[in-house]
Amino acid sequence: FVEIRHAQKSFGTLEVLKDISLSVDRGQIVGIIGSSGSGKSTLLRAINDLDPLTGGEVWLDGVQVNKKLPHRQYEKHINEMRQQVGMVFQHFNLFPHMTARENVTMAPMMLKGLSKDAANRLAEEQLDHVGMLERIDYYPSQLSGGQKQRVAIARALAMKPKLMLFDEATSALDPELVEEVNQVMRKLAQEHMTMIIVTHEMDFAASVCDRVLFMDKGVVVEEGPPEVLFRNPSRDRTREFLRKHI
Ligand code: ATP
Ligand code: MG
Repeated sequence: FVEIRHAQKSFGTLEVLKDISLSVDRGQIVGIIGSSGSGKSTLLRAINDLDPLTGGEVWLDGVQVNKKLPHRQYEKHINEMRQQVGMVFQHFNLFPHMTARENVTMAPMMLKGLSKDAANRLAEEQLDHVGMLERIDYYPSQLSGGQKQRVAIARALAMKPKLMLFDEATSALDPELVEEVNQVMRKLAQEHMTMIIVTHEMDFAASVCDRVLFMDKGVVVEEGPPEVLFRNPSRDRTREFLRKHI
């Protein structure tokens, strides 16, 4: 469903991704762990072609995301692709001058041509889904970090994405707010949303992911089901990382 083939990415002489291949089936949940600077965010952003690869291919549901096209055609193509992928980052990327409702309705109205009424119904449904219906008319500045992240998830879900990408969605949160966001991600997992989750939270990764990848210095060192990767890793580098992070 998601295929990354021989992904390679350099910033100048710095090779950040070194021949990474990864495939994710529909409905699968893949976790990515690894030290700071190992290339996790770069890999995630490459899936949307936000950080275009310098080599290799990304495919989503049978379509190559990073195909070479003349500029105009590429713009149209990539906008269509990006509409199918929801992204949630570490730092709340809500529009500060818009309420939760407006944050959620904007893209469906602008990009999918939904009427205001239809978009409002959608916003109510999606904000209810993440437990934020009561705060639908609040501005981001009036919400806690966990609430902002839940609105960000609702906003991504309103586009009915085929794939959700999470880049350390909880790592900027106060500890007591982490669980409410993790709960929403667990709920998506139960609904069989396809997800790729970069996280520092090993317990969460172990409980929600079907597979976990350990990245180090631009390569996937080891991957496997969480019960194997966390309890019985086969590589020294994985063991060393886990010793420091569990
Ligand atoms: P963290 O856990 O800190 O978020 P990460 O695994 O997500 O780390 P990346 O953000 O993917 O790491 O960065 C990988 C490497 O690429 C780092 O060495 C970083 O400095 C470098 N890098 C990332 N973006 C750029 C850029 N735009 N220009 C130059 N170097 C970059
Ligand atoms: Mg990162």
